[in-house]
Order: sequence, then C-alpha cells, then structure tokens
Amino acid sequence: MAKKPKIKTPDWVLEGFESEEAYNKKKGIKSKKESKGVFKLRLCPKCGSDSVSVSLGKEKSKEWTCKKCKWSGTNIKEKNVTEDEFMEYLDKKGEDLPDEGELKKDFKKTIESSDDEDLGDDE
Ligand SMILES: [Zn+2]
Repeated sequence: MAKKPKIKTPDWVLEGFESEEAYNKKKGIKSKKESKGVFKLRLCPKCGSDSVSVSLGKEKSKEWTCKKCKWSGTNIKEKNVTEDEFMEYLDKKGEDLPDEGELKKDFKKTIESSDDEDLGDDE
C-alpha cells in the first residue's frame, strides 16, 4: 500500500499567484514578520543629525530641512528601528535631547502619516 505524501499545496499556488507574498498582499494578509512597533528615524544625509523637519510649506513635495547644517532636500535618510532600538537611541542621545516626549510624539506622527501613503489598496 503506497502512502500518499501529506504535502498540502498552499493556497497561493492553487490560486496561481507567483509567490506567497503576492497572495498575501492581494488578500490583505499581513505577514507576521512585520512587527508593529517600528519607528522610522529621519536623518540628515549630510551631517547625520536627526534634527530634521519638513520644510514649512513644502509638506507636499516632502522637502526636509536640517536644523544643524541647514541642509534641505527630499532625499532624507531613513532608518527603521524597533521600539527597543529607538529607546536605546534616545538614551544614547542623552543631553542633546530637548524633550524626549515631544520627540517621540513627533516620530509617531511621522510614522502615521507615512503609513497612510503605503496603504494603497482597499482596507
Ligand atoms: Zn544636517
């Protein structure tokens, strides 16, 4: 008696998707790899400072200005960190930090607004 192999064909194969990733995207399934508490640091590409903010009146064109070296442009350096890494980062900054709470709020705002753009498809 020959036993049949117990390999189940994944749904994404059955439905003719190129990859599981493409299937998940189409179905709106979020990969578990995506951790929730990811902070996005914005750093100046010129001096590496995080004292960057969106230029006033240039929000739509996403132009950034560095308060330290006065750099401005759109090719801002982005770095994704976990919440732990972010806290560590704030720790290391130490006395340079004007107001930790304010800074965190600021980052959260930045994340929320950039998330909106990424969600292109339906809900
Ligand atoms: Zn700079």
